[in-house]
Parts: sequence; structure tokens; C-alpha cells
Amino acid sequence: PAGKFLVTGGAGYVGSVCAARLLEEGHDVTVVDDLSTGHRDAVPPGARFVHGDAAEVARSLLAEGFDGVLHFAAKSLVAESVAEPASYWHGNVTTSLRLLDAMCWHGTPRLVFSSTAATYGNPDRTPIPESAPTEPTNTYGFTKLAIDHAITTYAQAHGLAAVSLRYFNVAGAHRYWGERHSVETHLIPIVLQVAAGERDRVQIYGDDYPTEDGTAVRDYIHVADLADAHLRALHHVAAGEHRIYNLGNGAGFSVREVIETCREVTGQHIPSVTAARRQGDPAVLVAAGERARTELGWKPERPNLGDIVNDAWAFARDGHTAYARSRTD
Ligand code: UDP
Repeated sequence: PAGKFLVTGGAGYVGSVCAARLLEEGHDVTVVDDLSTGHRDAVPPGARFVHGDAAEVARSLLAEGFDGVLHFAAKSLVAESVAEPASYWHGNVTTSLRLLDAMCWHGTPRLVFSSTAATYGNPDRTPIPESAPTEPTNTYGFTKLAIDHAITTYAQAHGLAAVSLRYFNVAGAHRYWGERHSVETHLIPIVLQVAAGERDRVQIYGDDYPTEDGTAVRDYIHVADLADAHLRALHHVAAGEHRIYNLGNGAGFSVREVIETCREVTGQHIPSVTAARRQGDPAVLVAAGERARTELGWKPERPNLGDIVNDAWAFARDGHTAYARSRTD
């Protein structure tokens, strides 16, 4: 049945794709975003948009009666989180606590929260199950883990039905919605910027890792698959429960494999050079995905790296302008 949902951070990458998918499923969607990193024109048509701080807006807006909140609004740059902890503790933790308070006050029954593989830190085994120790190695990971703990206790005490989804490496695009960061740090968009001639070359951060080709291995998951896990999570959790799921592809790809796939998809040469390791980067981060598969009945429908890169490339070249055109036609 269709529901009424508040999407915080719905002008950002994952939030806008989830908002679009919710609308496609016939739900009523309100997006709240302060546009600090998001884009007004990334909010899908059909969603109501409220500009402002997620917690502030939720405090008054949730009085309308919502079926749930999908909470994406967050600061998410690892290096920045280490340099400016206060803005991450307040921006992520304080805001989320005030959002939880508003939900309890208004009796909003459901929450889906964007957590992260960064809560596990440097794992002692791979693939990483949800039961792995949580030992973040940076402020960003600490803030997301703190919010996860807060959600557990709020769910128990106040009967909230909550799910935290721990994302591995989100990539790709869904129709007109994709990745548009002003400061780009992620591998696939950077490699595609090289393919598009917007950068000279890609730096490979370390080729002496204990992996098959010496470069770091990550679990890249298609953003549309990730969004579908959110839709399922909304309907699979009971009042008073807080469930945690890792969301990954189940397969790892090395930095060299990613660059090679981007060369194949784009037909461009894409110069690369080896550089020093990036501080704090583990060799391998791959999700154990059994829990999401058995409990949510979810599995990635687009696990092929070529398909993920192809969608990211289509968006990078044309997605945003095609969207602007579609609105004026
Ligand atoms: N990486 C790289 N060059 C870049 C950006 C990233 O070699 O310009 C590597 C990075 O060291 C990591 C992988 O690509 O091993 C994925 O990095 P990304 O920042 O996309 O995601 P993360 O896994 O750090 O969340």
C-alpha cells in the first residue's frame, strides 16, 4: 500500500534516487534538504520540497502524520570529518537525535537510516558480516555508529521500527539521478572525469596491497539496487526492532579492474599513475550479504561492474542536462 514518507537529504545522491524510486512505487514523498551539498534540481518532480535543516523541519512537519522517515541527510567526507570533528558530531549526531525526538513526539512509526561500512573500520576478516566488531577509524564512521546505537535504544524504548543500512561503495545512476559532488573523492566518478577529459589522469592510491593485482578491493553496488533495499526495509521491520543490514554486491573489484572497466565502457584511454596509499584505506572491504538476502528477500539485480559503470557514464555525460530538458519539454 502507498505510504507518506519524509526523505531527509533527498537532494543528494542516494537520497534523490530513493525519492525517485518511492515515487515510482506510488508513495507520497516530501524531501527536506538544506542544499549544503545537494542540488535543488535533483529533487524528483512529484516530490514536495522543503528547504531547511532536517531536524528543524521534521519537528513541525511530522505533525501531519507520516508513515516513515528515510534519513539520508549527513556530512560524509572522511578527511573533512577528521579535520573538523565538531561539524560531523553536530551535523550528523545532534541532528539525528533531534530527528528521532521529533519522530517519537509525533509518533512516526518507521525509520530507515543510511549507515556505512565505515562503522566496521579495518576489518579482521572479509567478507564482513553485520556481527563484525565496529571499530571506526575516522570521525565520520564514529558519528554513524553513534547514531546506530542511539536508534537501537530509541526503538526499544519508544517502539520505533528501525533499519540501518550499511552501504559499501555506492555507484551508478538511476534515470536522471546520479552522483554530482562538488568535491569528488570517489573512484568511479573520478575515473569517468578522466574519460570525459575533465581531468588528466587518475591516481591509483597504492599498488602494494596484499591483493591479486596489488590495488585495493571494494564492493561496488548499483545505487538503484541500494534504493530497492530501502523500499523493502520499510516493510520488513516491526515496532520496537532495530535491524542492521550490510548492502553490497557480494563481489569485490580492485582499483585496476574499475579503471579497466571504465576504459571498456567509455572507449577512452584513461591514463593512470600509481601514487601513495591514501591514509586509512584498508586493503579489502567486501560485504557479507546473507542477512539482507534472507531477511529482506533482497539481492542486487545489477551486480555487473560494466552495467554500473555504464549507468554512471550515461549520467555523467548526459543525465543532468537530459533531465533539465525533460522538464521544459
Ligand atoms: N581510489 C584511488 N584513486 C582515486 C580515488 C580512490 O585509487 O582517485 C581508491 C581508494 O584508495 C579506494 C578505492 O579507490 O581503495 C575506492 O575509493 P572511494 O573513495 O571511491 O571509496 P571508499 O572505499 O574510500 O569509501
